[in-house]
Amino acid sequence: MRMDIFTLFPELFPAVLGTSIVGRARKKGMLQICCHQLRDFSPDRRNQKVDDTVFGGGKGMLLAAEPFARGIDALTEHLGKRPHILYMSPRGKVLSQPMARRLAEFENLVILCGHYEGVDQRLLEEYDAEEVSIGDYVLTGGELPAMILADAVSRMLPGVLADEECFTEESHYSGLLEYPQYTRPEVWRGREAPPVLLSGHHANIKKWQREQALAVTAKNRPDLLLKAKLSEEEKERWLAPEKELH
Ligand code: SAM
Repeated sequence: MRMDIFTLFPELFPAVLGTSIVGRARKKGMLQICCHQLRDFSPDRRNQKVDDTVFGGGKGMLLAAEPFARGIDALTEHLGKRPHILYMSPRGKVLSQPMARRLAEFENLVILCGHYEGVDQRLLEEYDAEEVSIGDYVLTGGELPAMILADAVSRMLPGVLADEECFTEESHYSGLLEYPQYTRPEVWRGREAPPVLLSGHHANIKKWQREQALAVTAKNRPDLLLKAKLSEEEKERWLAPEKELH
């Protein structure tokens, strides 16, 4: 996969997307991430201006459509095909594990980072951009959201994590949150790791992990339980208190 990020602050990205698992995947060539300075595509070659006041009044400045459009067009020509375009936006659908999995199927992704009041709506219409939010709050710019999206998508790519189990067992993949995990020492500050995990009994371990995942999800995110795939027995046990609430 190749991701191209258009931003006013390309210097923010290397530390996050050049380190650890994503950094290694890039070095191994499993993934290419290119950051582009939006000002380089400004039609105003002298001042490299990319923003303007908002029509109809209102506070703040808006990023103009043309610099992004020029960047996307140049990239499209270079790639020889139109990439899928994402715009990081608090108005978008909220990023989720299924969305990250779906986006990982694209060969090319473009991520547009807004700033100030955002971007001219016509850009999004012209390129049929998919708006993606990272949560119900507003940040100053799309750079942190773009890094989060790039990280979440990168780790879904084949070979990036050592083993597919690394993510299929994780929170949100199966619709449940992950069960608690433990490492050495077996007793830490008087707290024992659950003996079943040291028993070597695979079926019992799996059963315990499933129970724990259900318990954590019921405690922290009962909304997820309603959508998760549960056996009839699990539904009876874990959804019954929900029913009583209504
Ligand atoms: N005026 C916009 C609105 O009310 O929807 C908010 C603009 S925000 C101050 C500036 C930029 O930060 C946005 O264009 C977007 O790229 C990014 N941004 C802020 N919060 C975000 C979020 N929750 N998810 C994704 N991007 C976000």
